[in-house]
Amino acid sequence: MTAARNAQWSVGAAGPVLRLVAGGDPHEVVWQDFALCTEADPDAWLPPDGASVWSAMMTCRRCPVRSQCLEFAQDSPFPVWGVWGGVIFADGVVTATEIRCHKDLHVLDEENTHVAPDGSHSCRACKRERRREAAA
Ligand code: SF4
Ligand SMILES: [Zn+2]
Repeated sequence: MTAARNAQWSVGAAGPVLRLVAGGDPHEVVWQDFALCTEADPDAWLPPDGASVWSAMMTCRRCPVRSQCLEFAQDSPFPVWGVWGGVIFADGVVTATEIRCHKDLHVLDEENTHVAPDGSHSCRACKRERRREAAA
């Protein structure tokens, strides 16, 4: 992994979050320049209240520098927490690579997840099963 010269990971209020900082050659293009999370709320990647990281995980899946980010997190000199490169870390260790529903452990990807206006999400597969059971 090539270390970025005009960007670095730092420990933010909510934990390690991506922050672009001054320094280095501002004209040099680094992979962090393409990170989708730089303009998002960093709390979504490590919610201080333990809220779901589903939306952060889905953003990472669309991120063009996901593999570089994951490698960076794995090589980090400090143990990372929260979502990096589309997986969940706790104390530097990958604890989950996807989010699953509580009932039948269906993978909650974008296709199988219903997102309510209040941001809560639910499993479409479980919903279909409930409908089938109700109709039987
Ligand atoms: S993969 Fe996720 S955490 Fe990493 S740079 Fe992209 S959006 Fe940010
Ligand atoms: Zn389910």
